[in-house]
Amino acid sequence: MKKLQIAIDGPAGSGKSTVARLVAQALGYLYVDTGAMYRAVTLAALRRGVSLGDEEALAQLAAAVRIELKSMPDGGQAVFLDGEEVTQAIRSPEINGAVSQVAKVYGVRQVLTRRQQELGASGGVVMDGRDIGTVVLPQAEVKVFLTASLEERTRRRLKELRERGFALSESELREEVLRRDQEDTGRALAPLKPAPDAVVLDTSHLSPEEVTARIVALVRERAGSPS
Ligand code: C5P
Repeated sequence: MKKLQIAIDGPAGSGKSTVARLVAQALGYLYVDTGAMYRAVTLAALRRGVSLGDEEALAQLAAAVRIELKSMPDGGQAVFLDGEEVTQAIRSPEINGAVSQVAKVYGVRQVLTRRQQELGASGGVVMDGRDIGTVVLPQAEVKVFLTASLEERTRRRLKELRERGFALSESELREEVLRRDQEDTGRALAPLKPAPDAVVLDTSHLSPEEVTARIVALVRERAGSPS
């Protein structure tokens, strides 16, 4: 079966990462979490005291740091920043609060978009993010845009963060999710939006396995193989 490019976009808590990982596992494809790359640059900026308002310094930092994504046996992805594992460190509330500011910088997006395109170039890839179907892999054969209600997305994020040991209230997190949606949707560069040819799926009442099955079916259809 032909190895396709699969783009999965959507807002925070829409289930992208879980589903992208499961789709990649089901098909034996490479999984690339592009949000992790923006998070790693944000972590580097906070650690080095780079001002989040200094676009030039942020762009230089994005070009200078080495970000590696390594596939784990469980289908997950470990993230390394200049050789140090930062898989957990990039998921903190502090990074959640700062990442959208870093992600709107032109020079940062230019560097990371190019790296993502290199990773996806030979196909057989499931990439998740905000602009994969519109900017990074506009030629992807399968484009999916996942959505879910704000309540459901907040609930999912809360569960995820509590499992990681962070204590946050539901109302705090709802505000955070909403603010990040607004920043990602409203920015001038590569805003969060479905590609015109994306299949939009509301995952509010679907399990990750159900969403995965729909996407795998779509891939089989597009790859021209009997399912
Ligand atoms: O997907 P995740 O929540 O880890 O993404 C973190 C942030 O990185 C997003 O809120 C967005 O600001 C940025 N991002 C982006 N483009 C992508 C992936 C993530 O701007 N392709």
